[in-house]
Amino acid sequence: MQIYYDADADLGTLGNKTVAVVGYGNQGRAQGLNMRDSGVEVIVGNVQDESFERAVADGFTAMPIAEAARAGDVLCLFVPDEVQQVVYRQELEPHLRAGQTLNFAHGYNIHYRLIRPPEEVNVIMVAPRMIGVGVRERFLAGSGAPAFVAVQQDADGQAWPVALAVAKAIGATRAGAIRSTFAEETEMDHFMEQAVWPVIMRLLTLTYELLVEEGFQPEAVLMELYGSGEAAQVFEEMARVGLFRQMSFHSQTSQYGTLSRGPRVLPDAFKSTLAGILEEIRAGVFAQEWEAEREAGYPVFERLKAEALAHEINQVEERLQEIMQAT
Ligand code: NDP
Repeated sequence: MQIYYDADADLGTLGNKTVAVVGYGNQGRAQGLNMRDSGVEVIVGNVQDESFERAVADGFTAMPIAEAARAGDVLCLFVPDEVQQVVYRQELEPHLRAGQTLNFAHGYNIHYRLIRPPEEVNVIMVAPRMIGVGVRERFLAGSGAPAFVAVQQDADGQAWPVALAVAKAIGATRAGAIRSTFAEETEMDHFMEQAVWPVIMRLLTLTYELLVEEGFQPEAVLMELYGSGEAAQVFEEMARVGLFRQMSFHSQTSQYGTLSRGPRVLPDAFKSTLAGILEEIRAGVFAQEWEAEREAGYPVFERLKAEALAHEINQVEERLQEIMQAT
């Protein structure tokens, strides 16, 4: 594995370039402010709305997206993934020229070839492993959010130096930027979203349903599951000291219970279910389904969200929050 730190990147690569942040949202604002604080010339392209006003209030020169696409040398496409195709086709593509670099914070649209940039532009990715607020806060605190960096298309031999300079400018090389690919970043990200988090969310939901059916108090169950914040602390300790090593912070009874029952609740055979999800992601089956869903106006997505928000857990959470605030 190759990992880049500050010493591997040269901010001078961006010295004579203008970076256009297209989409001043979660990532756009955080990365734009970090790059400007690193001495990079940054402009903002956004639709005329609240985000546009926010960019102006933050002191940026803001303009319509097409204008930023013409003025910028490095174009950071930071609008949501599901609208990137339209924004790219209508506002960016007509203005692209040799020497420009397209930068993504996630590989989805390039990996599944939903956006196909012309050969004469560089295509890079600097994908922070953190939400925008974290990218900014860590930078201000003198550290940085780790990231994956990748080059999909190196048109002029400058793609890697530009990618590393962007990673440095946003603070990523302070923490470490892992050399990756659009495929690896996208597939891993989707696997987390489609396999790991669903297992955790389903487990919490099924546990709540079972324990309440068995007569346990609903508020007490949620407190035990995640309401107290203990689960979040366990994850923090996993990141800090390790998945198994953090177990020493729990009682012997807890450790024995976890280790002895683990394979029974999730047998090794479950790997084949996980493999099926991964295969769908890799073959583009999920991307096809999601694109069709988007084109149809999100009917299934809206139904699933409504069902989730109608679950009684939501009301119990509200009661639990009131109880906890009262203490
Ligand atoms: P946001 O949802 O915060 O939106 C970004 C911007 O896009 C906003 O300024 C928004 O304007 C604008 N926008 C939305 N719809 C349109 C449209 N139809 N036309 C033009 N502009 C539009 O995006 P994120 O920052 O969350 O995501 C940007 C990229 O960063 C994505 O590729 C994402 O995968 C990646 N990423 C995101 C992370 C995160 O934590 N959120 C983490 C790592 C990567 P307005 O608000 O005014 O509508």
